[in-house]
Amino acid sequence: MFVSIRGRVLINVEALNMTESVGNYVKHRRVPVISPTTYATYFVPAISGESIAHGFQEVLAGEAKKKGLPVCKLCEKGIFLKSTNENVFKGAFGQNPPKDDFEFEKTVIGNCLVEDVGGFLYAHGGRNVKRTSNFYTGYMIPTKESLENVVIEPQLHSRYALGTPSDIMKEQGQMIYYVELSSAVYTFSFDLDTRYVGKATFVCDKAGEDVVNDRKERIETTLEAMQRFLIEFAFGAKKTRFLPIVEWESLVIAVSDDVWTVPSPFSGNYIEKTEKKKEKVNYNTKLFVYPKDGEFEEVVANAIEEAKSRL
Ligand SMILES: [Zn+2]
Repeated sequence: MFVSIRGRVLINVEALNMTESVGNYVKHRRVPVISPTTYATYFVPAISGESIAHGFQEVLAGEAKKKGLPVCKLCEKGIFLKSTNENVFKGAFGQNPPKDDFEFEKTVIGNCLVEDVGGFLYAHGGRNVKRTSNFYTGYMIPTKESLENVVIEPQLHSRYALGTPSDIMKEQGQMIYYVELSSAVYTFSFDLDTRYVGKATFVCDKAGEDVVNDRKERIETTLEAMQRFLIEFAFGAKKTRFLPIVEWESLVIAVSDDVWTVPSPFSGNYIEKTEKKKEKVNYNTKLFVYPKDGEFEEVVANAIEEAKSRL
C-alpha cells in the first residue's frame, strides 16, 4: 500500500529550520529555486526534509511506545543515530552487532520500529549494512506564486532590562540577538510505502522476507503517527518562542495499492492535475482532498482509515 501526501500551507513568522549562527545572528535555511516562468533563480527560505523526517520519527517513536511496539534506546529519546556504528548499535540494542548482514537487519527491525520504517545506515570498520527509509519527504519551499514575494527578515531581540545592577550585567552586557524569520505559502510532500515494513531488504536473496510477526500493527501505528504528525504539524525547530502561525490551504492524500504519487503542489492547479492523473493511472487509488472533502482533521482521518482498511 502506498500513501502519498501533498499540500500547501501558509506559515507566518516562522523560524522552523535554522542553519548556522554567525555571532548573535541566526540564519534561516535558504535554497535556490528556479521560477518556471522566467527561469530566474531565487534564494528562498526552506524547511529541510531532514527536519520533517526528524519530527515524524519522534511522533512515530511516541506512538510505538504507546502501543508497546519496540523502539531502541536511542530512537525513543529522539536521538536518531540509527545504528551508525558499533558503539551506537550497542547503546541502542544492548548487544554486539550480529556478524551476518541478514541477522543484523533483522535485529534492528525487530527491536526498533523507527529504524524499520525510517531506515538506518551502519558503516563501521569497512562494513556497511543499509536499510532505505520506507517514507519519503523533502524540502518545503515557497509555492510558485509566492516565490517572487517571499522575504527573510532578521528580527532584533534583547534580554536587556533597564535598572539591572551593573555588576550582574558586567560580563554579558546587552545581549541583543537576531533571528531570521520568514513567511510564505510552503509546499509539503510526504509519501509512505508500506511494502517493506517488517521485511528484510539488504541481503539480495532474503529481500522481501518477513522478519517480524506484527507487521500489521507496525503499519497501523505508522499510519496513526502520520495522522497525528499532520494534524499537530509536529516538526520544525524554535517553536517555544517562534511558534509560527500555520494555516493549511489545501492538502491531498492519495491511498493506492501500488506506488502512486500526488503531483507537485508547487503549482496552484496540482489538485486538478492529481484528478487527471488518477483518470489515466490508477492502482485502486482513492483521493482525499482538503478543503473539498471536509475539515482538515476529517480528511486526514478518513484517508488513514482507508489506508488501514487495506491492510
Ligand atoms: Zn532505533
